[in-house]
Amino acid sequence: MSTADKQIPRPAELDLEFFQAATSTGELHVQKCADCSDHHHPPRLYCPRCFSDRYVFEKVSGRGTVYSYTVSHFTTEKAWKDEVPWATIVVQLDEGPRLVGTARGIDPGAIRIGLPVRVVTETVTDDFAYLWVEADAGAEPEKTGNERAEEAR
Ligand SMILES: [Zn+2]
Repeated sequence: MSTADKQIPRPAELDLEFFQAATSTGELHVQKCADCSDHHHPPRLYCPRCFSDRYVFEKVSGRGTVYSYTVSHFTTEKAWKDEVPWATIVVQLDEGPRLVGTARGIDPGAIRIGLPVRVVTETVTDDFAYLWVEADAGAEPEKTGNERAEEAR
């Protein structure tokens, strides 16, 4: 099934700025406060840390870990029915903010909290990009509390 059959979101305002930073460069950017340097997502008019209204969209590594996820086995969107099951993942970026993307190239059964991942963008239109979450093979897996306790013995 081609992308042409799928509805493409048309972001507006700050969301549009977020996606255009990605589509114009091919790389993930997140909003950064121009006064206190806090990264945050989703983008907002005022910094949640210092309330400044000055910001930029800055390139980030895309690296992070799985904070949470869910696996969809059913969709009501006909254009996407051949894609199930897919995993929607909340990624804790190394730079601080969390964002949501869709797993690509990861078996949904292999996803777990703390798995090292990388968010990459795929430009769809000038105003929208998919956010894919891929396994980050070069990273050390984050240890669970039980694993850390085991090492401490
Ligand atoms: Zn700030």
